[in-house]
Amino acid sequence: LLLFWSAALGDYAGPLYKDPAQPVEARVADLLGKMTLAEKIGQMTQIERLVATPDVLRNYFVGSLLSGGGSVPRKGATAAEWVAMVNDFQKACLSTRLGIPMIYGIDAVHGHNNVYGATIFPHNVGLGATRDPYLVKRIGAATALEVRATGIQYAFAPCIAVCRDPRWGRCYESYSDDPRIVQSMTELIPGLQGDVPKDFTAGMPYVAGKNKVAACAKHFVGDGGTVNGINENNTVINRDGLMSIHMPAYHNAMQKGVSTVMISYSSWNGVKMHANQDLITGYLKNTLNFKGFVISDWEGIDRITTPAGSNYPYSVNASISAGLDMIMVPNNYQSFISILTNFVNTGVIPVSRIDDAVTRILRVKFTMGLFEYPYADSSLADQLGKQEHRDLAREAVRKSLVLLKNDEVSSGKPLLPLPKKATKILVAGSHADNLGYQCGGWTIEWQGDTGRTTVGTTILDAVKAAVDPSTQVVFAENPSAEFVKGGGFSYAIVAVGEHPYTETKGDNLNLTIPEPGVSTVEAVCGAVPCATVLISGRPVVVQPLLAASKALVAAWLPGSEGLGITDALFGDYGFSGKLPRNWFRSVDQLPMNVGDKHYDPLFGLGYGLTTKGTKNNY
Ligand code: BGC
Repeated sequence: LLLFWSAALGDYAGPLYKDPAQPVEARVADLLGKMTLAEKIGQMTQIERLVATPDVLRNYFVGSLLSGGGSVPRKGATAAEWVAMVNDFQKACLSTRLGIPMIYGIDAVHGHNNVYGATIFPHNVGLGATRDPYLVKRIGAATALEVRATGIQYAFAPCIAVCRDPRWGRCYESYSDDPRIVQSMTELIPGLQGDVPKDFTAGMPYVAGKNKVAACAKHFVGDGGTVNGINENNTVINRDGLMSIHMPAYHNAMQKGVSTVMISYSSWNGVKMHANQDLITGYLKNTLNFKGFVISDWEGIDRITTPAGSNYPYSVNASISAGLDMIMVPNNYQSFISILTNFVNTGVIPVSRIDDAVTRILRVKFTMGLFEYPYADSSLADQLGKQEHRDLAREAVRKSLVLLKNDEVSSGKPLLPLPKKATKILVAGSHADNLGYQCGGWTIEWQGDTGRTTVGTTILDAVKAAVDPSTQVVFAENPSAEFVKGGGFSYAIVAVGEHPYTETKGDNLNLTIPEPGVSTVEAVCGAVPCATVLISGRPVVVQPLLAASKALVAAWLPGSEGLGITDALFGDYGFSGKLPRNWFRSVDQLPMNVGDKHYDPLFGLGYGLTTKGTKNNY
């Protein structure tokens, strides 16, 4: 009765940290003061949902869970199934002595891409081509709603790598080879988290509330600069170079209130970033004043292999001492916890370092309202894959297309835009009717997949929807030249490109597209005027396609909305995309960036032909 009485008077009777009226810093201090070492180290531990049980979460006071690439409750799971799973985990965490909510993270890197039926936006390289930060911000807001629709509160995005070498398998996760374009695209952060208030102090974490998610700027720092584009390798560059190419976007991320920063697997001049105290504590936390939490990459500390003789305890000490706050230890959590506990008990790692880490984690959790809204909001369920988000993705696709060639078919008349009304047209190529290929890596499966893997429209679907009903559309994946010659086609659309890949599997030293890509284009385009659509995560060896095709479009990895491609092919909208990267002539020029001595691109950064459209002219 007394409790009720004081609550009615607006006077909170429970512990201070549970009172939403108290300032965040006071709540953090109050809660921290009540925590045991085991509870603190639990907050610093992020485990894979596959090894999480209610007992594990309770016994180890686990602070965070994740779904690593493709780790879903069930293939094709609905929003409701996701919500049930996440809520069950949350219930276990809230049942501990102090009732600290967990935060659940996922790689929502181009929409909520692990989840069947979610809207899949173009990968970052395509968004770089739009030069439209406000579009990217709106994509962030839509992604936040779709992520929250599944009960999840944390996205490991944006990747603000500046990919300096397209041989890198993660180049498509990078907006551009130009740091300024990457900086502008940090607008994804206010999209995901909300706009920071006017009196905001750069470096503080900020999430506007329960329709937003915590963002993660990754991978700190220099991930896109490794030698020969080899994933997780060494970035060899002096401090000025690091600061002027790879660091600037982190300044923007601080101004926009990014809540978390993920450390890169890569090394800088031979030192593993996961052990780099100078850059993590010295630069990020002290110079940039970052007050959110720093998270490791997946088993990132396990990969601290230098100096010779390093072992797991060495890695735990090196990474925590460097300034990491939360460790993504998907499976090996018991060993991490016991080693770290031992280091603190023996005075190797001071309690003050642990308190700093936990303060940052709790600060994010309080700021985003997790204590008040720990559970999924079921009213958001219909956000997943909703039409408004698909329309936004379609807009992003058409703005991301870069027109590389558009030759005349008759005097004064370029091939594009194509007429909607024709007797018979051909659609061909391995990528013309393959949603999985169109989405690329980080989609449904970690490595991506082939075929109709989720909800969306392929290029073929989109062509059928776009043309006049009187136009006959014929599809042949890999037709012979004879078939095309004898087919009576007015024109053809051919889509070819790279097959999906993610991370190291995408490292590629020759950058040719797999066969029969080029031979399909040569067979079709040798017989009938054709527009080739290239689906790829980066510039590839493109001369054979250019030579064979009347028109060539770089469509990157457009995602689930093929309709965005036909919007521009058939002239409803004009082509407006600009190359987000320099396009090499031959791979032995690489790396080749503006300012390099041997800079001599086939198409330079910013290249892109335009056309006019009927609905708008960009
Ligand atoms: C990647 C990260 C990702 C993490 C969690 C790692 O392999 O490097 O970008 O966020 O996995 O799935």
